[in-house]
Amino acid sequence: TRVLAGKAAFVTGGSRGIGAAIVRRLARDGAAVAFTYTSNAAPAQALAAEIEAAGGRALALRADSADAAAITAAIDGAARELGRLDILVNNAGVAIMGEVGSVALDDLDRTLAINVRGVFVATQAAVRHMGQGGAYGRVITIGSTNSERLPWAGFSVYGMSKAAIVGLTKGLARDLGPRGITVNNVQPGPVNTDMNPADGPMAKDMHGLMALDRHADPAEIAGMVAYLAGPESGMVTGASLLIDGGFAA
Ligand code: NDP
Repeated sequence: TRVLAGKAAFVTGGSRGIGAAIVRRLARDGAAVAFTYTSNAAPAQALAAEIEAAGGRALALRADSADAAAITAAIDGAARELGRLDILVNNAGVAIMGEVGSVALDDLDRTLAINVRGVFVATQAAVRHMGQGGAYGRVITIGSTNSERLPWAGFSVYGMSKAAIVGLTKGLARDLGPRGITVNNVQPGPVNTDMNPADGPMAKDMHGLMALDRHADPAEIAGMVAYLAGPESGMVTGASLLIDGGFAA
């Protein structure tokens, strides 16, 4: 059933991986969907064309989440073009590895600019448009199980960025509750994408730490996002939800 018919969504980093699965799922549930990418226009245009060919509405926009002016302009433009904005999914993220002695501060700054500052900026821009025609709004960020369990060296900066989302989500939920906007954090474990392929060199080690010894399919993460984006999740807010095959258990 198309529970999101008449609604509009904005997904950052929606051209590949988890973001693309979220774009497809929200479109299938009836939403008009705008999404961003940074460098690869081809998969973004192909995804938008696929959705439009199936009778949906999709907009692919180039905007680097590290660039506050670009992300704000993309959100304002999408809200104007689609006539409204009800759902924001902060999915864009980077994972730059490095042991503490070798991390370049530029890499630390870029990680925080995309994974944390970009989430705040996108939320600030998106909520200005939410709540037209009733108190409904959804802000969903893709965090990581690594905010709770980080069993390897080399992930301190990434772990810091995803732990920041836990606190940000709680505070934003308090700010936005009075307007009927919920704010939640979806924390995956290993998911089969270009960032973390199921046949990559670390896959077997990861599976050994889990209750279920496999990567998730991006569509499984999109299923939890669809629930949080939809009308049934109205009492869920300020929450960080694990979807990690027991990685943190
Ligand atoms: P991918 O690297 O496979 O895909 C990233 C997507 O985001 C692409 O569409 C890319 O576009 C876009 N993107 C990258 N940088 C930016 C940016 N600065 N601004 C806007 N868009 C950008 O990543 P995943 O799908 O694996 O990860 C998505 C999210 O899920 C991230 O936040 C990640 O930390 C999180 N996550 C992933 C896990 C995993 O195992 N895969 C586990 C837990 C969390 P382009 O093609 O232009 O580069």
